[in-house]
Order: sequence, then structure tokens, then C-alpha cells
Amino acid sequence: TYVVTDNCIACKYTDCVEVCPVDCFYEGENMLVIHPDECIDCGVCEPECPADAIRPDTEPEMEKWVEFNRKYSEAW
Ligand code: SF4
Repeated sequence: TYVVTDNCIACKYTDCVEVCPVDCFYEGENMLVIHPDECIDCGVCEPECPADAIRPDTEPEMEKWVEFNRKYSEAW
């Protein structure tokens, strides 16, 4: 899965949301999040993010971001 990290805070762009084929972005408190179970790992959103906030969960220390994204995407 891909996850949104804190570089997203206060970013006003939604290019990532528009390109996602499965519509798995949700609005968190002050940033967007990706539902980790709905993301199909296509990677299309990552280069669209001007803040470089979208990262694959295969990078180091991403567990907390996966949980964060899950928590806020399921709040809806
Ligand atoms: Fe959507 Fe693909 Fe990005 Fe996952 S990797 S959030 S499916 S655009």
C-alpha cells in the first residue's frame, strides 16, 4: 500500500485524489489519508504529489503511517 505522510499537512493540492483509480483517499483532520486495504498499490498518485507526501509502505518506519492512514480513513 501507499500511505500519506506529514508532508501533506497544509498542502492544498488534490492531484493525487483525482488520479486514484479506486478512489481510496479520505480526508483526515488536517491532511489526506489513503485507506491501506483499498489501495491497489498502483503508484499512480505518488509522482502527482507536489509535497512528496505519498510514500510506499515498503520504506523504513512506515508502520506508524499505515496505522495513521487506516485510522483516519476508517473514521468516515
Ligand atoms: Fe490510489 Fe494507486 Fe495511490 Fe493506491 S497507489 S492510493 S490505488 S493511486
